[in-house]
Amino acid sequence: MVELSAAVRAAIARHARDEYPNECVGLLVGQVADGIVSAEDVIVLANRWTADVPLSAAEHQHSRRDRFMLDPRDYLRADRAARARGRDIVGVYHSHPDHPAEPSERDRVGAQGVGASASFAFLIQSVSADDAGALRAWMLADDGARFVEMAIAPR
Ligand SMILES: [Zn+2]
Repeated sequence: MVELSAAVRAAIARHARDEYPNECVGLLVGQVADGIVSAEDVIVLANRWTADVPLSAAEHQHSRRDRFMLDPRDYLRADRAARARGRDIVGVYHSHPDHPAEPSERDRVGAQGVGASASFAFLIQSVSADDAGALRAWMLADDGARFVEMAIAPR
């Protein structure tokens, strides 16, 4: 289970709307206790895909709309900042513009580099031109072979 405050949910929805039609990406800061992931805060990150990865013009057209890339340097910086406050990075979120809040195969492959455990949440925020839609949480199971949905509870 992952516990999210109303402020965390609002921050993710706002970030998804701001970046639309591109994907947004960010980290969840909080604590894990008794198997419950509790997110207190978000760290908004830049979606590095188009900035750092050379793409053809055709690839570029779809780039930030169907994939996100987390810069390991951003992750390490955020992790240090969280630990300085006695917290951990407990998850990552990204948006799916005009798509359901379900992980793609690309997400599964990308997630394996971040962390495969029940104490790390992958949040996906669906977003359209009109508004932010469903927010769902997933965790990697079976050594990263598949995603399993996590329940979201208020914090
Ligand atoms: Zn995705």
